[in-house]
This record gives sequence, structure tokens and C-alpha cells, in this order.
Amino acid sequence: MSVLPFPVEDRYYRFSQYLRQQFGERVYRVSLDAGFSCPTRDGHLGTGGCLYCNNRSFSRDRANNLTPVKTQLIQGIEIARKQHKADKFLAYFQAYTNTYGSIKELERLYRSVLDVPDVVGILIGTRPDCVDDNILALLNDLQRETYLSVEYGIESVYDKTLEWARRGHTFKTSRQTIDKTKNLGIHVGGHIIFGFPTESRSEILDSASVLNETGLDALKIHHLHVVKKSTLADLYQKTPFPLYNEADWIVLISDFLERLNPNIVIQRLVGDAKPGTLITPQWTMKKTQILQKIHSELERRQTYQGYFLNIGI
Ligand code: SF4
Repeated sequence: MSVLPFPVEDRYYRFSQYLRQQFGERVYRVSLDAGFSCPTRDGHLGTGGCLYCNNRSFSRDRANNLTPVKTQLIQGIEIARKQHKADKFLAYFQAYTNTYGSIKELERLYRSVLDVPDVVGILIGTRPDCVDDNILALLNDLQRETYLSVEYGIESVYDKTLEWARRGHTFKTSRQTIDKTKNLGIHVGGHIIFGFPTESRSEILDSASVLNETGLDALKIHHLHVVKKSTLADLYQKTPFPLYNEADWIVLISDFLERLNPNIVIQRLVGDAKPGTLITPQWTMKKTQILQKIHSELERRQTYQGYFLNIGI
């Protein structure tokens, strides 16, 4: 029996709790768009993007018209100081595939934010098939200088789903890249989507044990939604399929958390669409209300993240 890394009253391992444990104070993520593309967009693996992805900014001019990341970061910090009362910040390379470039370009980019005052580390979101040994060596160097976390888009542990979603990689690739990254002692997060028509409810719940085996440090969970200008939007219009409503999502996520290793930090439990892009499902509750309901559901059951894994409290 081991001890939960979070107060049982929290019911799951919140990212805010982890950041306080790591840095001793409130830390806020500032999202950055460094102008990268993705292999499913630029022709290497496809041109339409992953099935569910909004293609709104598929413009060739996008990268040229972006504000430099350092300026984005400084401006984001100014806003976060006022709106979120944070004093320390993580530079979050979030948009698209943030390791999809030359080593020289990546090194220049990542290092460009390290000397911004009150920045305590960097988060890098990317695809598991876009990280080779040279990039891992760079990340290994960086983690010696600052806090570093890499977030991989796993999206599903089932190849049938990855194929349907036109991801262009398998779960084996995710598994291998996570292993290599963790072997270097780098903090690894994963991103997963539930609600694909290719997966049953029990298959979704079975994902918990598969993800537990990967040794992931953190996890973001999204519900599948259909957004404008995605390939999925056309497909859904022709052949609609059931999507999660709020009530079923709250029960699903509560069931899933009970099966998930309690040492995995939860960074997200519900998806977000950019304003004006969502087609369906149109949920009426705000994100904070859904999080509150998941908490209440686990409280009602008197359970918590990892409850079924015989982890003591
Ligand atoms: S889902 Fe991610 S990897 Fe796929 S096209 Fe969109 S940004 Fe790129």
C-alpha cells in the first residue's frame, strides 16, 4: 500500500496541487504558438490534419505573421499576473507539433524564453512520432537547466481509433517514445480523447490500465467534439454518431479516474473548443461546473483516483 500524493478530499491529483508541490507557489501556464505545422498537415503524412482538428489556420502565411514567442510570453505573463494573480510562469509550447523542426531551430526557440523573468520552466506539446534521439538529447540538456515537461498526443491506446482519426501513428509509437523519454528522467504528460465511435465504454475504461503501464506522469483528457472546418465536421454531417452528454461524461470520467494510477497528475478532464468553432456536443454547463460535478460524484461514491488499484490513504 502506498500513500496518495494528494489530499483524499481532492478526489484526484490536480495539476495545481502538483505545481505547488514542485514550485512551492502558484504557477501559471502561458500558451505559445511558435508557428509549427504537423506531418498530417504539411503533406508528410497527409494534408487534412487529424480528423477532428480545426483546419482554420492552415495558412502558409501563419508562421510569418506570428508575434515572436518571447513577446507572446511577456504579453501573456502581464495578463496572467493581473487575471490569475500568479507570480511564476511556465512557457507552454502548445500549438501544433512543437518538435517539428530542425534541432538548431528548436534549441534557439526553447532557449529564447528561458531568460524571461519569473519563467520557471517549459512545457512542450508534440506528437510521439516527431521526437527522435537528437531531439531527446536536446530535451535532456534542457531539463538540466530548467523544469521541463513533454506532452505527447497519444489520443487513443487503440490502433483502430488512431487509424480512423487519421493520426498517422500507432499506439506502439506512443509507447516507445514515452519509454525513451522517461528513460532520460524527463517528465512526460499525455493527451487522450474519449468518445470516438470506434471505442466502446468498456474499452475506454480499459485504457486506464494501459496508460498506467506507460508510466506517464501527467494526463489531459478531452471529450470528442466536432468543430467547424474539421474533416470530422463533414463526416459527422453525412454519418452522425452519438457523442457524450455532460451527465454521461461525469460518470465515465469518475469511473475512469477510479482505475487510473493516482500518481498521474490530472491536467484536464474536459475538452475545450476555440470560441465560435464548436458544432457539437453543445454542453450547457461550464467547465468549472463539470469539474465540480466529477468531484461531487467521487465524493458521493467515497472513492478517488486509483481507488480500484489498492492504493492506501
Ligand atoms: S490534432 Fe494535433 S497533430 Fe493533428 S493536425 Fe491538429 S495540431 Fe496537428
